[in-house]
Amino acid sequence: MNLKDLMKDYFLDLDAAGKDPHQKIAWCTSAGPAEILRAFGFKVYFPENHGAMLGATRTCMDTIPTANAYGYSPDICSYLTCDIGAHLKGFTPLTRAYGIQAPPKPDVLVYNTNQCKEVMHWFEFYAREFKAPVFGIHSPNLLPEIADSHIDTVYRQFKALIAMLEGICNKKLDLDNLKKTVKLSWEASGLWSEVLSHLKHKPSPLNFFDTTVLMGPIVMLRGTEQAKEFYSFLNLAVQEMIASETSSIPNEKKRIYWDGMPVWGRLKFMAELFKKNHTCIVASTYCNSWIYKDHDAADPLLSMAKNYLDIFINRNDAFKEKYIFDTVKDFAADGVIFHDSKTCPHNTNSQFNMPNRLREKGLPSLVINGDLCDLRCFSDEQSTTAIEAFLETL
Ligand code: SF4
Repeated sequence: MNLKDLMKDYFLDLDAAGKDPHQKIAWCTSAGPAEILRAFGFKVYFPENHGAMLGATRTCMDTIPTANAYGYSPDICSYLTCDIGAHLKGFTPLTRAYGIQAPPKPDVLVYNTNQCKEVMHWFEFYAREFKAPVFGIHSPNLLPEIADSHIDTVYRQFKALIAMLEGICNKKLDLDNLKKTVKLSWEASGLWSEVLSHLKHKPSPLNFFDTTVLMGPIVMLRGTEQAKEFYSFLNLAVQEMIASETSSIPNEKKRIYWDGMPVWGRLKFMAELFKKNHTCIVASTYCNSWIYKDHDAADPLLSMAKNYLDIFINRNDAFKEKYIFDTVKDFAADGVIFHDSKTCPHNTNSQFNMPNRLREKGLPSLVINGDLCDLRCFSDEQSTTAIEAFLETL
């Protein structure tokens, strides 16, 4: 199945479930415990994806001011502000894409602060709006290493979440279902990891702007057969591209590591800019963030607790610096571009001197200013000048 149809089916299925009194809907953060929700039979919706859609369609520029006027600062996560603004306006890009009038109403909302605290404020807004129960996994943050005590903290919160969900669903968790879901999640994420590793090939068959789109199913459909099938198919397709020497960037000359969020509303513009400069972005923190290599069906809750703590955004600077350095070498990248995303300091790693520390290790880098959604923070001209000048130096 191709990506377009897969996403369409996912949203139409969600929409139908939202209208069916026998189906239950859970809202979940992108690195939240979707496997537990799916094992209970919830259809799972991800507001961050809705934020990315608002960003990519640039309709966020109409909805962010609505949230600002309502009392949400322009300085906080623009996924949050564009999404809440869209809700307040009664708007969704799902209408134009799939004929869907509104995201499905939640029976429960589950967030995990492993990525940031904004998700707590975001999900609590909707819990008030829909008078729905909300459960927060409060993860130990910014960890130098994952200790057993950290895993135990999250594990116990998963147990409390399960008890709450058993009350909402009026049934016990089926452990076999959870194991099956965790296995599917692990398999899809392993295949996704393989797809990304193919970008080590010179010339690379795909680039960052392809993978930001191709990552949809690993975020929204992990724990399902469909995600596994999609990445299995994609993996073979990319291997065939390599065999036929298909290059994502004609005459690839330079290779870059991208750190931070994409600029959703300027993906096409940026893709063209790098293409024009014969430069391929071959690796990124962002697309690598949904690789759950330690998910283990034999011990689903403990392994999930570990993996969801282990995500890049939840680690300390020393870990991140080494991760970026090693990945740059692994993918034979020539340098790093840091996106200083105005409203997402959590996924911005240039603000505490990391670029200079990497430069001292011989890794050239550039910091560009922008934002994931709010295009008032991004300049086409300044970014083009800075990127082209940087690429010249490599
Ligand atoms: S990580 Fe950044 S973009 Fe994602 S929800 Fe948190 S603040 Fe928003």
